[in-house]
Amino acid sequence: MGTLIVLEGTDGAGKSTQLRLLTERLRAEGRAFRQLRFPQYDQPSSALIRMYLEGQFGEDPAAVNGYAASTFYAVDRYASFVRDWGAYYREGGLLVADRYATSNAIHQGVKVPPAERPAFLAWLWDLEYRKMGLPRPDLVLWLDMPPRWSRELLARRRAAGGGSDIHERDGDYLARCYETAREAAASDGWTAVPAVEHGALRSPEAIAEEIYRHVRHCLEG
Ligand code: ADP
Ligand code: MG
Repeated sequence: MGTLIVLEGTDGAGKSTQLRLLTERLRAEGRAFRQLRFPQYDQPSSALIRMYLEGQFGEDPAAVNGYAASTFYAVDRYASFVRDWGAYYREGGLLVADRYATSNAIHQGVKVPPAERPAFLAWLWDLEYRKMGLPRPDLVLWLDMPPRWSRELLARRRAAGGGSDIHERDGDYLARCYETAREAAASDGWTAVPAVEHGALRSPEAIAEEIYRHVRHCLEG
């Protein structure tokens, strides 16, 4: 089997930035890998996700419960695994992903009452990793970006012309996602990478260096 490394975090935590820095470094090393990004908005397998994010099932993200919405995202991953990267993975390939099943733990788990979350997570991992047969990640790097910082970065990203969906427009949702992510990270053994140190945002390069160390350890260990 191959190695699957996932970059996870709440919106604006730096996933895409860190995926870029990590893949640049792996490429410079001459290491073979494939890059994944979920959801696959440009694929037909994401049709339900697009309908959901466009608000076709209701403008409030909570209009679609966390179990139903999780299945939309899971089938998109299933399609890509079966059609695109499953063989590469089974042949021992290295994959690095911007989001994965772990994003359901955050963005759908947040909709479930806190007391029900352990049961939700057990249901989710069973669905994605056992019933659907998607590979379990070897390393989940959780970019720990507290909401007061990611809110500011998202505002900057929007000002620079980036879009936002029904989730990103809601600041309280971001804070609740962050708490849900912390819980999931602890219960599922994600590797936390702090984005803030001594009350200040770390540079993308400093964060990338730490991520790279974890990746090296994962690949060599
Ligand atoms: P995500 O993919 O997790 O939503 P991004 O990688 O798009 O997050 O980052 C959100 C915004 O914050 C982007 O505009 C990015 O350039 C910026 N950014 C990411 N990490 C940092 C950092 N450590 N310091 C300053 N700006 C950052
Ligand atoms: Mg991103």
